[in-house]
Amino acid sequence: EAKARGKNTFHFFSQDLNEAAKERLELESQLREAIREHQFMLYYQPKIDLTTQRVVGYEALLRWLRPNNTLVPPARFIPVAESTGLIVQIGEWVLWEGCRFLARQRSRGLNVDLSINLSVRQFKDNSLAETVERVLQRTGVEPERIIFEITESMLMGDTDAAIHQLNQLKKLGVSLSIDDFGTGYSSLSYLKRFPVDELKIDRSFVQDIPEDQNDKDIVSAIIAMAQQMNLRVVAEGVETSEQVAFLKQHQCALVQGYYFSMPLAEQELSQLHYTIN
Ligand code: C2E
Ligand code: MG
Ligand code: MG
Ligand code: MG
Repeated sequence: EAKARGKNTFHFFSQDLNEAAKERLELESQLREAIREHQFMLYYQPKIDLTTQRVVGYEALLRWLRPNNTLVPPARFIPVAESTGLIVQIGEWVLWEGCRFLARQRSRGLNVDLSINLSVRQFKDNSLAETVERVLQRTGVEPERIIFEITESMLMGDTDAAIHQLNQLKKLGVSLSIDDFGTGYSSLSYLKRFPVDELKIDRSFVQDIPEDQNDKDIVSAIIAMAQQMNLRVVAEGVETSEQVAFLKQHQCALVQGYYFSMPLAEQELSQLHYTIN
């Protein structure tokens, strides 16, 4: 009987696998169609300077607007885009669209910067810096306006290759940021070997402030050490006034989060968002 049950379990298990593989294939072909049919959009989340309370820039966040009008968040499709390699094409579109956005902002007299997330595949791509250079030239965007966000895991493994890629990008004049900082395995001393300009403290360390003393200690330590290393600090996922007060008290330069604004479509970014409060 045990054997029969085992067999059954296996049967269901492999059926699940088939189901998962089928869904993946479907998603892949839908993503190809999304690229062809221009179904992607960028949303923009304001980044606020805590000392001036002003919006200094935005983070570009990818959305997939399906023909049935549902808006798909990146967590639902980036893994498949990444494993199929489609992310390289999608990421290039993000770069173009983000730079065109900056050019439109500038033509309205608004000098903001833009943080752009890079995927693993994009980061490993030898032609990345060339592509970035071409997009900057064609759109007329100053490289100083662009901040590329990478994660700690992208710096692990082949560190020489990672450092080379970071240097290629730095040569263009763009800035580099470590996203989701604190969730990976890198230490600050290890980070010193990489030419980065900014750390983004992961949301998971911010969300339980002020209740969680551990998280408060971690966040204040990251801010203090980053200051010593001359790195800019951004706190992600700020949702409450208590969190704002804590971050202000510890001199965190920049914040992002629902407390100030959700990520918004370009037409929803009004003058209002330039001075929060
Ligand atoms: P991320 O780069 O760490 O982006 C921050 C995520 O936190 C965003 O989710 C944002 O909407 C969300 N968020 C911002 N403020 C708050 C808050 O106060 N509370 C909470 N609970 N969440 C907040 P989103 O837009 O779903 O993006 C998820 C991830 O997808 C991003 O994490 C990034 O890793 C990836 N991603 C987004 N756009 C792109 C892209 O253009 N290219 C690549 N390669 N990855 C992208
Ligand atoms: Mg990010
Ligand atoms: Mg993050
Ligand atoms: Mg991330």
